[in-house]
Amino acid sequence: MTTETDDRETRHKARAVKHKQVVDARIAAAQIDKGLLLVLTGNGKGKSSSAFGMVARTLGHGRKAAVFQFIKGAMDVGEHAFFANHPDVIWEKCGEGFTWETQNRERDIASARAGWDKARAALADPAIHLVVLDELTYLIRYRYLALDEILPPILARPAMQHVVITGRAADDALIAAADTVSVIKDEKHAFRAGVRAQNGIDL
Ligand code: ATP
Ligand code: MG
Repeated sequence: MTTETDDRETRHKARAVKHKQVVDARIAAAQIDKGLLLVLTGNGKGKSSSAFGMVARTLGHGRKAAVFQFIKGAMDVGEHAFFANHPDVIWEKCGEGFTWETQNRERDIASARAGWDKARAALADPAIHLVVLDELTYLIRYRYLALDEILPPILARPAMQHVVITGRAADDALIAAADTVSVIKDEKHAFRAGVRAQNGIDL
């Protein structure tokens, strides 16, 4: 009995050592530092909150972050209340709500364009470590702005600046241009069981 347990223990240790060697080798092989383009898309919950989590990480390292909230600019999320007055944060609300709320396409396009002009300034500023373009995908999807207005300033940004784009239905060109892409799957959402948006979780 003891020998059997000992054997299992020995085999487990050997596997763990092997696994560590493989992981260590992979970590050692990843030597590149660069500004990343991340796309967080899909129908599941967790895109914007993940992006805002990276704002916290950035600030924790003493760096500057800029957030541009497109489309749902009128909605107040807890992160805005928490981060907006931070000296190292620029937080711009660049939308008045969803199209079906504003029901004015021209106005939506105008606020998208005004927001994009501000975002472009951040994308040209090497002092800003992280730029979050929250719900940017809809600007392309609804054709508020053309892809060739959006992609070039992102691709021409400072070499060490990170950009996170969130929103459902990310355009193929955004996905192709990105370094990291996560598609969050909607398996279940409490809203469909009649639960309204909860402070601290949904906003
Ligand atoms: P979060 O801001 O919570 O990370 P998200 O950015 O992934 O969410 P959005 O499409 O921007 O998702 O929607 C934001 C709001 O809608 C949040 O209140 C979120 O809980 C809710 N939501 C997200 N996905 C779903 C869904 N599949 N069904 C219903 N509500 C959703
Ligand atoms: Mg979102």
